[in-house]
Amino acid sequence: MNEFKKHLIEALKDQKDIFGDELLTSATLKRKTVVITKIHNGKEDETLLFESKESWEKATSLEELDKLINKCTKCPLYKSRTNFVFGVGNPNADVMVVGEGPGADEDAQGEPFVGRAGKLLNDILKAINFKREEVYIANVVKSRPPGNRTPTAEEMEACLPYLKKQIDLIKPKLILCLGLTAAQGLLKQRESLTKLRGQLFEYRGAKVMVTYHPAALLRNPNWKRPCWEDVQKFRQLYDEMK
Ligand code: URA
Repeated sequence: MNEFKKHLIEALKDQKDIFGDELLTSATLKRKTVVITKIHNGKEDETLLFESKESWEKATSLEELDKLINKCTKCPLYKSRTNFVFGVGNPNADVMVVGEGPGADEDAQGEPFVGRAGKLLNDILKAINFKREEVYIANVVKSRPPGNRTPTAEEMEACLPYLKKQIDLIKPKLILCLGLTAAQGLLKQRESLTKLRGQLFEYRGAKVMVTYHPAALLRNPNWKRPCWEDVQKFRQLYDEMK
């Protein structure tokens, strides 16, 4: 029996009294809410019955969440992926690093930031005294866009609830967002990376800083210096929050 039917039967049992002799005409799932329509004095009357949650939304650990979402087919990226790249690291991390989406190496290994950009990310973290295992690393989209293209706004929207849930479970104090695409997906910002750097955002109880994506630094080493300045500030902020 699907989740909707189960919830509906439970709710009908619990709330039998609200229907009385009135005629229940329909129960519909509108977005994530179940609405009961009845005829009352000849008019249609809508009552919000309950909010329906997908089972992954109730996950209480990252492990459980991973199991519940790693066969996801909500966007077309599932068709070409080898592995769903959930995320890796310390489930109680104070610091989260958020990238755009898996590349070829990440798709093959099922772990974020394991290719060349990942090696550079490890070095960046090391330079500011964080070990890779100490932080939590995830991406806005969990499946590789074919040919490493930028994920579309729709793909990011479909996957974002999973990242939100990861953030809610981990409860980091600080998030380092890597690159403009991740910043657009996560923070819904439309400004340039130059404008976003140096600003401090709030997101689900965490402070967020945006800097260059390591892959961009590999293409343009001139950005290493400003990135270095950003991550120094990030570390300083972390030390002040301790
Ligand atoms: N680039 C990203 O944004 N994420 C990865 O996991 C790897 C490369």
